[in-house]
Formats: sequence, C-alpha cells, structure tokens
Amino acid sequence: MKTIEDFNFKNKKALIRVDFNVPLNNNFEVTDATRIEAAKPTIKKILEDGGSVVLMSHLGRPKGVEAAYSLKHIVEKVTEVLGIQVKFIADCVGEKVTEAVNNLQNGEILLLENLRFYKEETAGDEGFSKQLANNGDIYVNDAFGTAHRAHASTTIVAKYFSEHKCFGSLLAKEIESIDKVLNNSEKPVLAILGGAKVSSKITVIENILDKVDHLIIGGGMTFTFVKAQGGSVGDSICEDDKMELALEILEKAAAKNVQIHLPVDVLAADDFSNDANTQVVDVTQIPDGWQGLDAGPKSQHIFDEVVNSCKTILWNGPLGVFELETFSKGTIALGNSIDRVTKNGAFSLVGGGDSVAAVKQFGFADKVSYVSTGGGAMLETLEGKNLPGIDAILS
Ligand code: AMP
Repeated sequence: MKTIEDFNFKNKKALIRVDFNVPLNNNFEVTDATRIEAAKPTIKKILEDGGSVVLMSHLGRPKGVEAAYSLKHIVEKVTEVLGIQVKFIADCVGEKVTEAVNNLQNGEILLLENLRFYKEETAGDEGFSKQLANNGDIYVNDAFGTAHRAHASTTIVAKYFSEHKCFGSLLAKEIESIDKVLNNSEKPVLAILGGAKVSSKITVIENILDKVDHLIIGGGMTFTFVKAQGGSVGDSICEDDKMELALEILEKAAAKNVQIHLPVDVLAADDFSNDANTQVVDVTQIPDGWQGLDAGPKSQHIFDEVVNSCKTILWNGPLGVFELETFSKGTIALGNSIDRVTKNGAFSLVGGGDSVAAVKQFGFADKVSYVSTGGGAMLETLEGKNLPGIDAILS
C-alpha cells in the first residue's frame, strides 16, 4: 500500500482528492470544519517536503454550475485551518486552471472549483479525468467518503499517474483501522449493529458473521428478530418480510459459532416522542399500542459484559432513538462501555451511516480508537465490497 510517506514531494505538484463536502449555513459559512482539519496532515507533509498542493473536492449535489455550491465559500476556512493563504480558481479543468497550476510555487496551495459542476465527474468520464490529471505530478487520494464511487476524481484519474499515486494519511488510516477490525483483529471480536432496519444492514450482517465472535443486534432491527422467534413486538418497527431472513441469520451465526446478543428488555413508549409514557418491558412481551425505542437496563448490563470481554469492537448504528433524549440511554451506556474497554487497550472503530452523529452528539468521538469519516464507504467495506477509489491506487 503506497502512502504519502513513500514519496518525496520536493518540487512536485500533488493533486489531492480531499473531502471538503462541509456543511454551510445560510450565509455560506462553514459550520463544521472537521473534514478540513482531517486533511491537514497530508497537506502539511507535502508542503514540508518542498512541494505544492492542488486540492480538488465536491460540495453538495449541484445540478451544473450553481453559485451556492461554489468552493469559494470555503476558501477562508481552509486558509484559517491550514494557516496558509489558499489560492482559488473558479474551475477545475481548462486553460485558466492549467495556467494557475503552472504558476503555483513550492509551498503554495491551490483549491479548484467544485468537481460536480461537471456531470463528467460523477459519470467517471475519461476525457475529464485526463484533464484533471494534468493538474499534478503525483495523485493523492485522501477522501474515504467518496472512495466507494467510481467518479473521475476518485478513481478514473488515478490511471493517468501510473506509479505516481498514493493514499493520503487520512485514507491510509481508514484502511488500516478497518483492516485491524476485519482482518488482523485481536480476538474476541465484537460487532454492534444498531439502527433502524434489517434491510439496510443485511449484507453487512452476513459478511460480518465470518469475522466476529460476538454480534450485538440492537435498535429497530431487534424487533424483526424477536417477532420471527415468536415474540410480541407491539407497535415496534418491524419488517415482516425480513423475518425469514432473520431466522436464517440466527442459524448461520450458530453454525459459525458466532454468539448473537439481542436486547432482552426495552424501554417501550406509547408515542414516538420525548414526553411519551414509557415502561420497561420484556422484549418478547411488548403490549399493543407500545413501541420499543431503546435498550432496557438488563440489556444494557448484558451488553456491557459482552463489550468488556472483547478486544476488538466495531460499532455501527445506535441502540435506540438517540435523537430523543428519553430513548438515548442505551446508546450512551454502550458508548461508556466502549470507552472503558478502549482505555483498557481494546481497539474500537465507529463508523458507517449515521453512527458518527450519535458518537459526536454524546462526546464519544475522542474516546474510541477511530471514528470513520465515510458513512457509505464504510458500510460498503463492511459488506465485503472492494472500493473502486482504493483499488485504483492499489492497481
Ligand atoms: P441507521 O441509519 O440504520 O444506523 O439508523 C439510525 C436510526 O435508527 C436513528 O435515526 C434512530 O432513531 C433509529 N432507531 C434506533 N432504534 C430504533 C427503534 N427502536 N425504533 C425506531 N427507530 C430506531
């Protein structure tokens, strides 16, 4: 695996695919600069070597050129975070861009305009990719969030650099962390899959059964499993058409010696709201008119013991409707358990879908070993898929 550490960038122009798809407020100010911060180590190393940097990214989902999605809005923030005045050019290919790239001196940074102003970007157009490739001597991919897309800037562009391509330090860290969980893990390995639906996680569950010793299934997915085994789930979220699949998963897990842990009790509510009436009930005996919205205290205790017994932990998805305070306790308790074992030397990785939101909201981001930056890319990796953006650097 080639990373920026394998290159000396002196007198070289690095074309870096970053993920600067950051949130903006109504005044077009960046409200969360995490992704910009995350790209800093790669940019710093290249400049310190004596090279220059050309940054390319997408922002939002513009339909053609739309001023609201211009990367000019983030120039000030990128400059502030990197501590160097960043130059901006209002295009990402063409004569003016070539001129700006040619004029770029060692130690300087040029930010290109939103790649998605061209439909050729998401189409993975060859000609467009070739034009992008003219903007640098070495291609660096540091955007895990788009690594599952075979877009021009994430994948196709790499083929014009033959040996001169590598992973940025952020993407390298993502790959190493996932590898530490899925392939080179210290046993016992635990995966915690929460969230809303079995249907959106089914491929992950099936793939992960070959990698883990324990699997905690929580959140809304619980009820499809409970009902499939004959329990009463009341008005809880449940996918009846996935019940057979749930039973198959339980059988496969048993055959592979994977221990599955489902909640045994839940906090049930008579309404999907913070001030609903609530009661703790057995997960198999939820009355009609009530829905399970969080893991109950007994479940929290059992999950704590499972977490305690494991050396490698992967966490994807909340154990309850964490957005509502009343139903956030199970997710918080789990975060505390993971925090404790991480302090004791376990490796913990959080990522995929919305998991990161829950982890950030409750202040766990600094307490786990690694928080993945790519929702969809992480899920596809957990599903066992090869990501085109990663393959393009490896090939
Ligand atoms: P996902 O994107 O699949 O990880 O799902 C996250 C969503 O699952 C969050 O918005 C939670 O509110 C929701 N969720 C978790 N537990 C439950 C539950 N018991 N009932 C309904 N929704 C849930």
